[in-house]
Amino acid sequence: MKYVTKYLLIVSVLFIGFYFSSCQTNKKSGDKPYVVMLSVDGFRWDYSDKVETPNLDYIAKIGVKAKSLRPCFPSKTFPNHYSMATGLYPDNHGIVGNSFYAPDLDAYYAIRDRDAVENGDFYGGEPIWTTAEKQGVISGSYFWVGSEAPCQDIRPTYWKRYDHDFPFEQRIDSVIYWLKLPEAKRPHLIMWYMHEPDAIGHSYGPDSDTVKYVIHYLDSLIGVFMTKVNTLPYKDKINIIVTSDHGMATIKRSKTVILKEIIQEKWFDKIEGGSPVFNFEFNEEYRDTALAVLKSIKELKVWEHGKLPERLHYGTNPRTLDLIVVADSSYNVVWKERRAQDGGNHGFDNFNTDMHAIFYAYGPAFKENYSQPTFNNIDLYPLIANILDLKPAKVDGKLEHVNGMLK
Ligand code: AMP
Ligand code: ZN
Ligand code: ZN
Repeated sequence: MKYVTKYLLIVSVLFIGFYFSSCQTNKKSGDKPYVVMLSVDGFRWDYSDKVETPNLDYIAKIGVKAKSLRPCFPSKTFPNHYSMATGLYPDNHGIVGNSFYAPDLDAYYAIRDRDAVENGDFYGGEPIWTTAEKQGVISGSYFWVGSEAPCQDIRPTYWKRYDHDFPFEQRIDSVIYWLKLPEAKRPHLIMWYMHEPDAIGHSYGPDSDTVKYVIHYLDSLIGVFMTKVNTLPYKDKINIIVTSDHGMATIKRSKTVILKEIIQEKWFDKIEGGSPVFNFEFNEEYRDTALAVLKSIKELKVWEHGKLPERLHYGTNPRTLDLIVVADSSYNVVWKERRAQDGGNHGFDNFNTDMHAIFYAYGPAFKENYSQPTFNNIDLYPLIANILDLKPAKVDGKLEHVNGMLK
């Protein structure tokens, strides 16, 4: 009997100990914050002034709205999504364009080349999901640029191979499904993506009625998503960010420089990039001729490697090649005539406000009804690291640019 009592006592002490420690663990993990960040590609900073966006307006009321979010140069999709993920300028993370030649790897990168997109060798820096996973925080990515490749041998726990045609409504449901997983499997960092209004903006231009229609539709999808998040028992722990990679400028066929009609292919060993920003490698024999002709085109900015204005933080990475050429605002530049069209484009100088993107956020970390001045998208990395209590990697972005919006 004595032994039985002693045994029971030990078991009870162990049980009580286990009960309290498990309560503590549950409380701790239950208290851990979430960040769910959506990128709506090409959502220009002022679209919400042109068409009613009640759901985004509601976020501004219960959370934060930035005047605008400045992308990195070049204001293209891949460099910018990867800058948002890593907090680094494209020169420093290596995704210097949507397509480029990497002399360090003797390999070409292009967004439609699956092998390249999934090759971790192209991607420098440490994406926020890698920082999270290294520190025990589960992450999920739904098509975020870079997440399909192992960076430092790490991918998000949940990731998906890009499928352009996967319906937006189902993307919402998948993200909600991840948020409903049991705590031990549930991601606390989710980055997800929609390819509109970029595609429609290219086709019809930022001032078109078609863009306005799509903006309204995307805003309603954001509303559906917020309603679904609201049904989760731990909704009060979830921080939601809605952002975009760049804006969109009107382009006109009549205001387009057609390079093929002015310069000769043999002047260059490589012609990379694409409208409105190109990277050239000289054929040394024609270096002076090529430079003189290109510099004489008044609608273009032409910079040699390493000689770009410092504010652009671009043109020092060997992948940017010998020469960087970009059209001035209100002009476009293409290689072939058939590429000259009316509509919209981006890739221009990131200080041109037409290129600016959006930032909206709400949740326990964010102040209410707070207007944030324009900030750089590289500041998103330190912002998210701070909210998730992660030790950040060394990055170009700065928390002090954004911590005014935090409680
Ligand atoms: P752009 O407007 O040329 O800068 O690029 C926009 C396009 O990038 C979108 O229409 C998507 O089709 C494409 N895109 C975005 N994310 C990915 C991805 N993870 N893999 C492949 N393509 C992507
Ligand atoms: Zn884009
Ligand atoms: Zn685009």
